[in-house]
Order: sequence, then C-alpha cells, then structure tokens
Amino acid sequence: MKSMRFHHRFLPSGCSHRSKGATYLPAVTVGAGVKWEELYQAVFDRKFVLVGGGSSSVGAAGGHPQGGGRSPLSPTFGLAADNVLEFSVVTSDGSLAVANRCQNQHLYWAMRGGGGGGGTFGIAATHWLYPALDSLVFAQYNLSTPDKPSFQRTLAQFTELHPSLERAGWAGTFLITNTTELTLSYLLPNSGMELASATLGAPLEELAREDPQLRSSGSLQSFPSFQEFRLAIQCQGRSSCRDVDTATTAGIPLASRRIPRTTVAYSPGNLAEAMVRIRELFPRVSLTGVFVGGGAVSRDGRDNAVNPAWRRVLWHVMAELSAANAILVDLTPGSGAYGNEADFDEAQWPVCVEICMKGVGERKSDEGNGMTIAKEQEEIQASGGEWKAQCTPKHAKIQKV
Ligand SMILES: Cc1cc2nc3c(=O)[nH]c(=O)nc-3n(C[C@H](O)[C@H](O)[C@H](O)COP(=O)(O)OP(=O)(O)OC[C@H]3O[C@@H](n4cnc5c(N)ncnc54)[C@H](O)[C@@H]3O)c2cc1C
Repeated sequence: MKSMRFHHRFLPSGCSHRSKGATYLPAVTVGAGVKWEELYQAVFDRKFVLVGGGSSSVGAAGGHPQGGGRSPLSPTFGLAADNVLEFSVVTSDGSLAVANRCQNQHLYWAMRGGGGGGGTFGIAATHWLYPALDSLVFAQYNLSTPDKPSFQRTLAQFTELHPSLERAGWAGTFLITNTTELTLSYLLPNSGMELASATLGAPLEELAREDPQLRSSGSLQSFPSFQEFRLAIQCQGRSSCRDVDTATTAGIPLASRRIPRTTVAYSPGNLAEAMVRIRELFPRVSLTGVFVGGGAVSRDGRDNAVNPAWRRVLWHVMAELSAANAILVDLTPGSGAYGNEADFDEAQWPVCVEICMKGVGERKSDEGNGMTIAKEQEEIQASGGEWKAQCTPKHAKIQKV
C-alpha cells in the first residue's frame, strides 16, 4: 500500500515500443496508501517533478488523480489524470487487472477523471515524471480599495489580465477575503524574474497607477525548485506540510464552479460583480479563485474521462455551498462543479455531470453508464450542440437540447 517504485524508462505493461502512442517515460508507481506529501520529497530527491495535489493528506493513487486532479503545475503538464500511465486495480468481480493504453483501455479511460470509487479499487497508479524545474517565480500581492464599487472595478481589471497570464504560464489561487480586498498567490513554473515582472508585476503596478484609490502591495520571489517553493510557501517554512492545516474553512462545506475562458475573457465585469455578490451574501468563508486551467490542461487530444468542461476553463471558483455558486450558473452555462470539490448537497445537481456520473457509476457500474456520459457530452459539444444532464438516483442521460 505504501510502495514507491521509480522507473527510468517505463513502458506500460502489455505495450511494445511499436504500440500506438506508447513510449518509454520516466515514471513512479505508487501504492494506494501513498500521500502526495510523501511522494513529493521522494520525487524531488531523484531530480524529478510530477503533477500532484496541494494537501499533505490527499492520496496519490486515489480520488485525486481518478477525479481529475488539479495542481499549480497543471497549466504546465496537465491534470493529474492526464499524467497517469497505468493503474493496477481490483475489479468489481474480485480479479486483478492492469489498465493502460494497451490493455483494459476502457477502464484506463474511465479511471482517469471519472471519479474515485467508481466500481474498481486502484491498488497502484503509475505517474509520469518530468525533469525537475530549476527556476520558478512565486508572486504574492494584495489589492485593496476603500469601497465595494471601486473593488468591483479592480476585480474586473484583474480578471481581464488572465488570458495573458495564461499565455505566460501562470497558475495559482486568489482569495477574495471581503468586498474590498483580494490576495493572490501565483506561480510561474520554468521561468525567471524578467517574464514574471513583465507579465504580472508590471500590469499590477499599472492598475495601481491608473486608479489612485487602489492600494497594491506585494512581491515576486524566485525559487530553484518546486519542492523548495512548496516547503517555503505551502508548508510555511517547515520541512513538510504534515502539520500545516490546509482545511481552513472550520467545518463549513465548500462547493466549486468551473469558469470558462470565454467568461473570463469576455465578461470580466459580470464575473467580478457575481464574485463580489457571493462574498457579500456568503460571508463565512473567503471566495477562492483557483487558476489552474488553460495551457497543458486545454491541450487537444486528451482522451480520458476528465469532464470536457475542464479543457475550456481558466478558473474554478470555490465558495460556501452550491447556493453561492448558483449565482455563477447563468454566466457559466454547462460548466458545472469539479467533482472532487463539489457540494454533497448540490442544488443544481442535474447540471453537475460529475456528481451525476459518480452516483450512477457506483450503482450501475456493470453497464458503465457513468463512464460513458462524459463521452456523449463531448460528442454533442464537438458537433456544436448544447447538452443537458438528466439524473435520477438510478440513471443518467445526456440529452442534446
Ligand atoms: C485539504 C484538501 C486539499 C485538497 N487539495 C486539492 C488539490 O490541490 N487539487 C485537487 O484536485 N483536489 C484537491 N482536493 C480534493 C481531493 O482531490 C478530493 O478530496 C479527493 O477525492 C481526495 O481523494 P483521496 O483518495 O485522498 O480521498 P478519499 O476520501 O479516501 O477518496 C475519495 C474517493 O475516491 C475513492 N478512492 C480512494 N482511494 C481509491 C482507490 N485506491 N481506488 C478507487 N477509489 C478510491 C473513495 O472511495 C472515494 O469515493 C483537496 C481536498 C482536501 C480535503
């Protein structure tokens, strides 16, 4: 359960070097009991990096990669699910199976993004390793204004920066702590101060110059490796994140809503207004904007069960309960929640296809219904159509509307 096996040249079992799309890659195979925290250090010690979760308590072979798996490195390398090369599983009939691009391909497709607990039990996952990053820039800035209308204006301008931040390779989170203030913590992997300053530092200074009411403070800091960034920032200077409590919402359940690139680019004013309204109506927790879409997440040709909506988003926004995110529904039609960070009491559950897939996957895994609806949705979208999910406790259907 706690095993880690490193491979210099991993070829999925049953593949030959002539198999379509199969290549030798550096990789690590981890047992189902390994947590990201344990894996990060071991991977760093071998001069590699991989796409993992943000918390020490999240499993490296379980719900995170099986449900999608976002990371600040996702715009650089893709979601965790995009980077799993093989699963070893116990299937619902009790037999052992290996799923990869050369055998049990449907299972391999479904387990990369279809959600944890979908009818098979993963005993090991093999993750793609990338050469360690040797230069990263971390940005932390605080933007505040004297009142709500000026903050809404600033938030719209901040939103407008994101298509160019995506092109530069930035990722990270921003917190709207109240209706007059936000703090951003962004990471630019594989780049130096010059690009960081030109693409984020300078535009933020420009915003402050143009608006005398806006107070902006912050800095850029460079790191020689992802692990050093993680320990200094995410683990708050400790030698591990084990004692750092990342679940900071004091028992208040959160829900998420994916925000498409088009909404960020073309409706920044409406989006800013909606986020301020959420913050005002649901004051118990900060609104968190998670900027992990775009770049490698949006790359064409990814063929797995990750909800296709992920390929079109720049952010996903987390706030208190789905009631808060309902405010964003009209601005983000068909986008839904991230299943790994969804509200168990989701009011808009028929449009949250991942929750729907999960429920149906558990009940009707033999028919594979939960595993195929994301594909149906993708086909409708590819033909230019709109879709609607219809869920009952026993069945799920995607319909063209
Ligand atoms: C503090 C915190 C921080 C987080 N940070 C991130 C983040 O940075 N990025 C992100 O994408 N998500 C993040 N999440 C969400 C996280 O991805 C989900 O909570 C995920 O489901 C956790 O998976 P787990 O296996 O660790 O948890 P569990 O609760 O054990 O499992 C979740 C689901 O997966 C199933 N499952 C678990 N192991 C297996 C297995 N071996 N085989 C088959 N099914 C299995 C379970 O049955 C369950 O249905 C975070 C969550 C928390 C609590």
